[in-house]
Amino acid sequence: MNVRNIVLDKYSAKVYKNRKEHIMELTQETKDQPIAANSRTVPGIITNRGCCYAGCKGVVLGPLKDVLVLTHGPIGCGFYSWGTRRNKAKTEDGRNFIEYCFSTDLQEPDIVFGGEKKLRQAIKEAVEIFQPKCIMICSTCPVGLIGDDIHAVATETEQLYGISCMAFSCEGYKGVSQSGGHHIANNTLMKKIIGTNDTPPKNKYSVNLLGEYNIGGDGWEVERIMKRIGYDVISVFTGDGSFEAIKNSHMANLNLVQCHRSINYIAEMMKTKYGVDWIKVNFIGIKSTIQSLRDMAAYFGDKELAERTEEVIDDELANIAEEKEYYYSKLKGKTAALYVGGSRSHHYQLLLSDFGVSTVLAGYEFAHRDDYEGREVIPTIKEDADSKNIEHLNVEKDDKKYHAYLTDEQYEMLKSKIPLEDYTGMIRHMENGSIVVDDLNQFETDEFLKLLKPDIFFSGIKDKYSLQKAGVLARQLHSYDYSGPYAGFRGSVNFARDITMGLYTPAWGFVTPPWKNRSTLRASLAGGEE
Ligand code: SF4
Repeated sequence: MNVRNIVLDKYSAKVYKNRKEHIMELTQETKDQPIAANSRTVPGIITNRGCCYAGCKGVVLGPLKDVLVLTHGPIGCGFYSWGTRRNKAKTEDGRNFIEYCFSTDLQEPDIVFGGEKKLRQAIKEAVEIFQPKCIMICSTCPVGLIGDDIHAVATETEQLYGISCMAFSCEGYKGVSQSGGHHIANNTLMKKIIGTNDTPPKNKYSVNLLGEYNIGGDGWEVERIMKRIGYDVISVFTGDGSFEAIKNSHMANLNLVQCHRSINYIAEMMKTKYGVDWIKVNFIGIKSTIQSLRDMAAYFGDKELAERTEEVIDDELANIAEEKEYYYSKLKGKTAALYVGGSRSHHYQLLLSDFGVSTVLAGYEFAHRDDYEGREVIPTIKEDADSKNIEHLNVEKDDKKYHAYLTDEQYEMLKSKIPLEDYTGMIRHMENGSIVVDDLNQFETDEFLKLLKPDIFFSGIKDKYSLQKAGVLARQLHSYDYSGPYAGFRGSVNFARDITMGLYTPAWGFVTPPWKNRSTLRASLAGGEE
């Protein structure tokens, strides 16, 4: 029996029927088969998934430093998501709300009589104390059930205080995971912010970095490299991002998509409405970073920019050469399993391969089929009942603001060379024999660990300690175990250093107490030998 079937075999018939669609053992044949993804979690299975509110407020909106993000609901949702994602931000105009947790802290009477009154009062206090230019109201589970009209309150707020205010109906039960929340956040950023200011870029190499949340300073490291080359980074969605910068993002000539899952909606809508092309980039990994920088240079088709790109690549590589070689010698031949949200399980495989580490298992919590199989499967994806309550926004060309950097001929010519409006997905880059699992749960984690015996398991905080108790190094790829940055050239060696330290820590040698390995009892017969 293959590894996949050994794990599935332990399930009841009903659970087996569901889970068999989400697990693949890759072979030449299965690589072309569809995987089930973005569907409802089996109740009671101990999933790692979060909710729609987490995807909207926690992931996309939370990092916007000059926005006061107000959680409308009981205190748990706001409190638990307070400061737990490491999206860093520098203060620019005195407004940096990243370190706060704003909540309406709903109580029983608010559930019974409605929470709008309390929401208005919270906004009044927030305006008086913090003077934000923009407030975003995020709904939690009960808000949708009791029927609070947060959108009406947002409109009222704009009229009353003359500031921007927008509401997000991202109740936790919408969709099946964080993914619905990404979509809801994308729609409102597109409707209400993007395109509302027209400050021209500093030069024609103007880009937005989409789906980069600056965990541990990743976005800063990528920006540093891009600025060395000469790019004008207009906005980052949304790590160290700002409401003010996003207003101008439609002025860029190119969108760079790092996390496809969370932000592809905006990339697509900006292409339709403003003519801004997007390419899939990956700044995680040395070879991937080089490839992405070359793709960007190819897009702009400028000799000087291409030369500058190569100079910067050479210089950055020279700076990390010694460390790279050392960590390669320490990590070569190791194996890894990766289970992260919706993009890192792919990106980090490429970084690991730079250091000679191969992948035996990879999976996503909330990715869709296109993240696994590539964007060409999008027309074949059937939306199920659980995701139908997430709005699909249809945008149209804005005749006044539409600008295309490439001619149609240039576009067609480049399409075969760089990932223009394309993402090929994770599976295509994986070796035959490896396992792909969607919505991995605790039972499957334990089973695959025993069967595949990876040297390192990359995952999140919830399973980190159960993995380490089983004797395997677990590194968190959401929080980077409070380290980072891991992006770009310098980030790659930071990452390699961290896993080398984890693998070679002497603590692993003390897991088994000495009396389990050798006899510690000594006795001697009176007057005799020991
Ligand atoms: S599921 Fe509901 S209650 Fe739980 S964190 Fe999400 S919004 Fe809050």
